[in-house]
Amino acid sequence: MLEATNLTVRFGEKIALDAVSLTVTDGEVLAVLGPSGSGKTTLLRVIAGLQAPGSGSLSWDGQPLDQVAAHERGFGLMFQDYALFPHRTVAGNVAFGLRMAGMAGDRIEERVAVVLDWVGLPGYQDRSVGNLSGGEQQRVALARALAPAPRMLMLDEPVGSLDRGMRERLVGELRQLFVEHGITTLYVTHDQEEAFGLADRIVIMKDGSVAQEGTPEQVWRQPVGEWVARFLGFDNIIDATITEGVAQTSFGRFGIAGPASGSHRLVIRPDGFTVAAGGTIQGTVVTRSFRGGHYQLAVEAGPGVLLEMEIDEHPVPAVGEVVTLSIDPEAVVVLD
Ligand code: ADP
Ligand code: MG
Repeated sequence: MLEATNLTVRFGEKIALDAVSLTVTDGEVLAVLGPSGSGKTTLLRVIAGLQAPGSGSLSWDGQPLDQVAAHERGFGLMFQDYALFPHRTVAGNVAFGLRMAGMAGDRIEERVAVVLDWVGLPGYQDRSVGNLSGGEQQRVALARALAPAPRMLMLDEPVGSLDRGMRERLVGELRQLFVEHGITTLYVTHDQEEAFGLADRIVIMKDGSVAQEGTPEQVWRQPVGEWVARFLGFDNIIDATITEGVAQTSFGRFGIAGPASGSHRLVIRPDGFTVAAGGTIQGTVVTRSFRGGHYQLAVEAGPGVLLEMEIDEHPVPAVGEVVTLSIDPEAVVVLD
């Protein structure tokens, strides 16, 4: 288990990491999710031993790592610009760490074959990496990182340079690979869908600090504040006054779950709306787009109040139609 405690890094006046603590337990896939500049790469470099922290400490299974050199930490690394050796074969690239470790030739061949199988490139040993597609090169870089059987794999935006279709496929395959082989993984990304699709647990970073931590379900159900909610793509953030389970807003009243009372900011998740005759909210459909499986609607519920919602029941109201909506109390999150 990796344990990072109060890691702090300054570049001049700039605080890149501000007392960041986290753990990665054995076999867990942890995603570090945050916008560009939030300190993700710096965190990964500190854990890898490529950057000394100004303060804070690191340990593995209780043993301090702070004085352990990068190449002796036993971590595998994969970066976005996968930095393959362009003039070597696939096998030459994948075997790199094994040769450095002094492994015997026939065992290297065996291990290279195993990890190429894992990443879906069986038989690619003698191919030149220069002739591979971006997705294939990415898999070679992954195989290279996995070959020495690292006790933790760390990836920094590893699929960021691929097109959307390839990215989605690779993310699904990565999760399966990590779980199937019990690979302890720290996965850095700015893309929330990637983090949600991959991780057992997510750490959300903002300005060098941990803004929230939890399972994908926990984070999605209960973002801790407006910043996290917006970062996760929730746009319905509104002011309300709550009295005995009823939220009063500028555009109507609706029930909420939980004990909150008084003035609060609320998030209404987009899947929480139903077009229903008995609803308490009225509005006009402003945009409607088909998303495969559901429609995304924007409904103007009052001056300057635009509610974004996902509707999957039929008939789906048309643009310009006046609709009555009800809101699922469980889809309302009270922010502090
Ligand atoms: P992320 O990977 O989340 O995009 P980084 O860890 O790369 O974020 O950067 C965090 C902050 O630290 C940014 O403001 C960045 O400009 C700054 N930073 C990173 N590396 C250096 C460096 N070597 N020198 C100066 N500032 C840096
Ligand atoms: Mg980065």
